[in-house]
Amino acid sequence: MLRQLLLIFGLLLALELAAEAQQPGALPNPLPSSAGTAYVVRAGRLIDPESGTAVANQMIAIKDGRIVEIGASVSIPPGAETIDLSLYSVLPGLVDAHNHLALTYKKVPENDIYYYTYIQESTALRAIQAASNGMQMLSSGFTVVRDLGNNGLYADTALRQAIEQGWIPGPTLINSGIIIGGSGGQFYPTPEMYKEHNIIYPEYLDADTPDEIIKAVRQNVLFGAKVIKICVDCKPYAYSVEDMKLFIREAANAGGLKVAGHVQTQEGARRAIEAGIWSIEHDTALTDELHKLMAKKGIWRVGTETPFTEYRGTQERFDHTVQGMKSAWANGVKMAFSTDADYYVPGMNRGQVVINFLKSWKASGIPDKEILKIMTVNGYKVCDIYDTRGPVKPGFPADMIAVKGNPLEDVAALRSVVFVMKDGLVFKRDGVMTPERFLHGGPVNGWRIH
Ligand SMILES: [Zn+2]
Repeated sequence: MLRQLLLIFGLLLALELAAEAQQPGALPNPLPSSAGTAYVVRAGRLIDPESGTAVANQMIAIKDGRIVEIGASVSIPPGAETIDLSLYSVLPGLVDAHNHLALTYKKVPENDIYYYTYIQESTALRAIQAASNGMQMLSSGFTVVRDLGNNGLYADTALRQAIEQGWIPGPTLINSGIIIGGSGGQFYPTPEMYKEHNIIYPEYLDADTPDEIIKAVRQNVLFGAKVIKICVDCKPYAYSVEDMKLFIREAANAGGLKVAGHVQTQEGARRAIEAGIWSIEHDTALTDELHKLMAKKGIWRVGTETPFTEYRGTQERFDHTVQGMKSAWANGVKMAFSTDADYYVPGMNRGQVVINFLKSWKASGIPDKEILKIMTVNGYKVCDIYDTRGPVKPGFPADMIAVKGNPLEDVAALRSVVFVMKDGLVFKRDGVMTPERFLHGGPVNGWRIH
């Protein structure tokens, strides 16, 4: 009996370990939530952002959540439903490489100071907001979101689990858990707040020493992080090159995770580049010289380039932003579409706020088809899922969107997404969200996804 129990336990453990070893974005094949479904999508134009080309009148056969065949004609899977998108361009889903879905700060009541949001809103409430934000993002065509902290006590992991287990629809999430930084993180808490009430926890994990760095990385991995986010230089006691090399080593050791660094000073950027960090978040400190170093080392620029709008920014800041994009592009830096759009704009949903960042990209002068590539292919790459999810190709999960017009010629076509498919299920059709197939009363894809 004991032997049998041990055997069963061993088997469970093995299953658990197999699940652990999966790359971000990789899920069981087929997902039970998509099993038994079949579609044929008729695309008026099928766009390949990688090559910047389009082919007219293509058919895409989808079965059990995955793409099985693409061509002018395909063998129709038995029982397949036809989805007529012959008036539209079909393309892979979009990526926002920097957001915080469980954070929504606002003018009222906190005057856009997100320090106060943490005091006023529970992680539980913020997790529900995140679920809504995820659907709003999906409706705007974002099938992948890299979510980099400031999500309370792991609301980002909770959202990812809920999506992957099959409770609710949402983008594929590459989430960081809690941001790790030197004492205080991004804030200057009062001693009372910091020592007695731990008010900055859970927004930041303090890691000042090598032991604390290792411990913090492991805590995040334990609680479901798929990328490690650090605050490189939020404090005068910025991380050293050696500190960051330790982060990178420990993250790699913990399942091959990458390290994303919030950077706000040139010295911080220089150190992060020297350490060989995966990505630099925010364009604030990046100069032409630093771009050259980044290009040489292949470091991602996740610039979070905020457009100047009636609700945000200044002309001066925007000029700096656009100048930085031009410099990065001219130097051949790897760029990602990213927003840091974590605030409420009355009258707009999260997806609309995010897609409005096209304004910055248009202003950068980067050719439209390159912007489209940055928003798709580069997104899958910075999320480190390119080999498992994203591109529209046989064997991959069927994630795709459709828009009117041709985004290769005018990327603004992405502003009105009429159709969204995620994991081979239709989330949006004729411009209307149709989430029913995604909603389940239990963890249909498996409770062991964590
Ligand atoms: Zn951010």
